[in-house]
Amino acid sequence: MRTDVFALRHIGIREEDLQPMLKTINVKNIEQLIVETIPDDIRLKEPLDLDAPMSEHEYLSHIQNLSEKNKVFKTYIGLGYHESFTPSVIKRNILENAGWYTAYTPYQAEIAQGRLEALLNFQTMISDLTGMELANASLLDESTAAAEAMSMLFEVRDRAQKKNNVVKFFVSEEILPQTLSLLQTRSTPIGIELVIGNHEEFSFTEDFYGALLQYPGKHGQVHDYAAFVAKAAEKNIKVAVAADILSLVLLTPPGEFGADVVVGTTQRFGIPLGYGGPHAAFFATKEAYKRNIPGRIIGVTKDTDGKRALRMALQTREQHIKRDKATSNICTAQVLLAVMAGMYAVYHGPKGLQYIANKVHSAAVTLADSLEKLGLYQLNTSYFDTIIVKADAAKVKPIAEKNEMNFWYVDADTISISLNEATSLKDVQLIVDVFAEVLGKDTLILDELTTDNKIGSSVTRTSSFLNNVVFNSYHSETALMRYIKRLERKDLALNHSMISLGSCTMKLNAASEMLPLSMARWANIHPFVPIDQAEGYQIILKELEQDLNVITGFSGTSLQPNSGAQGEYAGLMAIRAYHESRGEGHRNICLIPASAHGTNPASAVMAGMKVVVTKTDERGNIDVTDLREKAILHKDNLSALMVTYPSTHGVFESSIKEITKLIHDNGGQVYMDGANMNAQVGLTNPGTIGADVCHLNLHKTFAIPHGGGGPGVGPICVAEQLVPFLPGNPVIKTGGEKAITAISGAPWGSALVCLISYGYIKMLGESGLSNSTRTAILNANYIKNSLSGKFDVLYTGEKGRAAHEMIIDCRPFKEKGIEVSDIAKRLMDYGFHAPTVSFPVAGTLMIEPTESESVAELDRFISAMLSIREEIDEASIDNPNNALKNAPHTLEMITADEWQLPYSRQKAAFPLPYIAENKFWPSVRRVDETYGDRNLICTCAPIEAYMEA
Ligand SMILES: *Cc1c(COP(=O)(O)O)cnc(C)c1O
Repeated sequence: MRTDVFALRHIGIREEDLQPMLKTINVKNIEQLIVETIPDDIRLKEPLDLDAPMSEHEYLSHIQNLSEKNKVFKTYIGLGYHESFTPSVIKRNILENAGWYTAYTPYQAEIAQGRLEALLNFQTMISDLTGMELANASLLDESTAAAEAMSMLFEVRDRAQKKNNVVKFFVSEEILPQTLSLLQTRSTPIGIELVIGNHEEFSFTEDFYGALLQYPGKHGQVHDYAAFVAKAAEKNIKVAVAADILSLVLLTPPGEFGADVVVGTTQRFGIPLGYGGPHAAFFATKEAYKRNIPGRIIGVTKDTDGKRALRMALQTREQHIKRDKATSNICTAQVLLAVMAGMYAVYHGPKGLQYIANKVHSAAVTLADSLEKLGLYQLNTSYFDTIIVKADAAKVKPIAEKNEMNFWYVDADTISISLNEATSLKDVQLIVDVFAEVLGKDTLILDELTTDNKIGSSVTRTSSFLNNVVFNSYHSETALMRYIKRLERKDLALNHSMISLGSCTMKLNAASEMLPLSMARWANIHPFVPIDQAEGYQIILKELEQDLNVITGFSGTSLQPNSGAQGEYAGLMAIRAYHESRGEGHRNICLIPASAHGTNPASAVMAGMKVVVTKTDERGNIDVTDLREKAILHKDNLSALMVTYPSTHGVFESSIKEITKLIHDNGGQVYMDGANMNAQVGLTNPGTIGADVCHLNLHKTFAIPHGGGGPGVGPICVAEQLVPFLPGNPVIKTGGEKAITAISGAPWGSALVCLISYGYIKMLGESGLSNSTRTAILNANYIKNSLSGKFDVLYTGEKGRAAHEMIIDCRPFKEKGIEVSDIAKRLMDYGFHAPTVSFPVAGTLMIEPTESESVAELDRFISAMLSIREEIDEASIDNPNNALKNAPHTLEMITADEWQLPYSRQKAAFPLPYIAENKFWPSVRRVDETYGDRNLICTCAPIEAYMEA
């Protein structure tokens, strides 16, 4: 047997495990299970046409060779992306560490205190630097964050503004081009009118509700916006500022001149360029808007013993609760990147950041002075890192490129040059040499960077920042390494045990898939370099698009959306554009089954659609009669159906083809939510079921790690008629012939992590992919049958089979006083992360084991669940003092001198023998969910708090 086959490493089940598993499920072979699970009329009859699998070794040399096709020039393009140094201690201990990158979104706070603390650091850093009261724990990119600001300010218009239908939003012409494109995408469907202009000439009239400024401007000029903001406030126009995070070290923070929202990216805090992403954006605002902030906020609360604990706050404002009343669809964000950027600030501290910012500024001033000495004219009067010079672009470009340098060519005789953390005196010299050559003059010899300052005094920062202990304690590598480890130990990730989160597909994120992210020739490419400098990227992105077309049975793919929810939005916007192109722009009804994920209705509303909810029958399937009635009722205005397949109930509905036909017959398009694609790959696909567009969560099915809540990639794959509408980019040409405007800032979204999915597909090949799907279905049904009789599975297919996940009903245990959350917390004592809690049905758990787990791990999980079931039997509603209600149990309580609980310490912490070998200790007891919301604190305590203690 060949053992260098990647599928053997990716799939956890061994040949010899099969027979006993099949026996438990009561089938002769896997094929029989698949036949009984996936309806016959949608099962693929031919294998997918994909390349033969590469071994891990072959793949690593293949990807290394491809990287050589990327040209890593010195890039001074700027426009929101800057080269920066990732501190090695952060790269090695976070980016390359499965303890960090394989964690899930911290819903289970007790086993996530490490990343919650890292995110609280991020929020504190953002609040401090922007001068705002609170910040969220990251958004997808600067441009989407700006769009979220536009929408949030629209939402919080005052009564008169809403009554008078005030819909105008001013956008400064200084805004980044990709941000403008995104604002165009996001404003139209919800009826916001953009007015683009010069902020100095803006007339403050009552028909505007908000404005967006760029700070510094897109080509580096630092404007003093204080007067603008003050005048806006008089007319109750709210102002958002898109700010450069590093510049805020030296510039007056927008909070100090009255901004209502500040957004931006933290890419230049140690995050690789990665040809566009992933990077963590930030969103900071005033306390008054805390219930309207998009994305997650980490807050401080206390645990059962009154000890300080962290958690995700204010979840009641999220789309899984608000659904079509939600104003944002952000679910997956950029947690891993936010953790890294926050650590960059922890590592450098305020003094280190000042050093870096001053050095960047000095380099820019030195360059400007030198170019002026050569006789060139520099336009910016007050600037941080970017200068603009008047020179003949046609002459400069070839000489710059010959010297492996990229500038930004604004027009034929204007060039913008943006310097960064990685720019040395030598680099400045090389730039000067290029211009000297262009002018045919002798170059100037630079001895040192000047200390002159070109930041106007009215915009110079005077306030201090990052005074908290955490930003002033870990400046040696040993100290930071241990701090990172201390946090990591508090978190349960895939390197500890199975995380069987239904709908989230927490599978292996293989090391060979991850390694290329660290290669310089993948990491250091700016998204707006000329396309011929990114040939390696172009090859893998095209291949990945092509493979995803094959896998989904569709004709075109866009990798631009940065999350599943962004994919939903992109897909619906493509449908909208398609209807419009046929003169049917009035079609605006979106049918969504009641069981859909909360992002579905939220995305539909953002796309300007009206949500009509359709019923689910008692078996968990779409109620086809109800759907038919509604499709026919709305046939003149039907835009789309959004359907998850297999359903969020974990079932392959056999009526799916009838459903998709019904929608088409009534003039609508079918959007398939592809979060459950792990049950389809190689065996069926959205093209076959009759869908027109789907998004895929590459961070679920295609092996990108969850990173504790991001990064994600949510490509959309579309049928032929939608291909022309795939999203474009204003700087680099991409997308369809009639491309809709941007969905993300970068042309190919988070290109760097697309390498992971590319590697996943190339190393598994057709056989590995379809065997992964078969095994995922096998493992789910193995758990289902093993729990049978003890836990009721809510829904199954016609032959009694689950798909790749199943929902178990925990509502009957209420009789014993046991809630589903008690089971979730008790699983921590057994060393497991809970499955998905209360989605899509309240009071249930949704279990998805994935193909990567071994039968031994599945058995441990099963034994934990069965043991918990016995504990439930022993529980009594009259006496809630039991191990379930008190869970989780911490090391501190188990080792305390006092123990007064009515069960033993061993039962509390080591209820089964396997646990002692690999005990995971939750670092806090159960967190108080409501206390935290009532007393919202979402930054680190100021230094005084520690001094008092
Ligand atoms: C995860 C998920 C989404 C949202 O994807 P994000 O990447 O988190 O935005 C949408 N629908 C379903 C069914 C999901 O499981």
